Amino acid sequence: MRVNMPFPYLLLHPNIPKPLHGLAPRTILGAKWWNKTKAQAKVKFDFHCWACGVHQQEAKSKQWLESHECYSINYNTGRSEYSGTVALCHFCHNFIHDGRLLILYQKNQISEGYYLRILAHGNNILRNWLGKDTSIIKHPFEPNEPFCEHEDWHKVPQKFNNLTWVINPRLPLADWNDYHLILEGIRYERKHQTFQDWLNFYEQS
Ligand SMILES: [Zn+2]
Ligand SMILES: [Zn+2]
Repeated sequence: MRVNMPFPYLLLHPNIPKPLHGLAPRTILGAKWWNKTKAQAKVKFDFHCWACGVHQQEAKSKQWLESHECYSINYNTGRSEYSGTVALCHFCHNFIHDGRLLILYQKNQISEGYYLRILAHGNNILRNWLGKDTSIIKHPFEPNEPFCEHEDWHKVPQKFNNLTWVINPRLPLADWNDYHLILEGIRYERKHQTFQDWLNFYEQS
C-alpha cells in the first residue's frame, strides 16, 4: 500500500558535494549510532518510503528501505549541516545519488535500462508533484560536476522540516576548500584535499 504522506521534496536532495565524500555521519558517529538512527527512520512511517510512499514490500527491484543522511547546504559558503536521516526505497535513494549510479553504469555494474528506470521513477514523482512543466528533473548521462549545485532550488517549495539548499546567485560560489560538514555542532574538514585527489581515489575503487 502507498501512503499519502510522503515527502517528494526529498528527491531534490542534491548529490553530496564531492569534497564531503568520506565524511558521512555514519562514519564519524559509528555503527551503534547508525543502527539506531536508521531503525528509527524505517519505523517512523511504518516501513514506507519517505519520498514516494511505497511500502518496502511493494518497492521496485529491492523490497527493503535504505537510509539516507540529509544535509542542508549553502553553496556560497560550503557549509553543509547534517539535518537527519530518512528511509527511502532503493529507486528513490539511487535517484538522489545519480552521480554514483552513472559511475556504476560506466563500469558496467548496472545496465542502461536499470539506470534509466531509476531516473524515470524519480522524474515522474517530481513531475506529478511540481507540475508537468517543471525544469527541475534529472537528465541521464549528465556530466558529474564537483558540487552539483542547482540554481532552481530556491524556487522549490520547501516542505521538509529544516532542510534547505541555498544559492545566492549574486555571491561567488564556494570552492573545493570551503566545503565542510557540521555535525552536532562540530565542524569536520574534507577528506580529499583536491578534486584531483577525489578522482584518484574513486577511479581506483
Ligand atoms: Zn521511494
Ligand atoms: Zn544516501
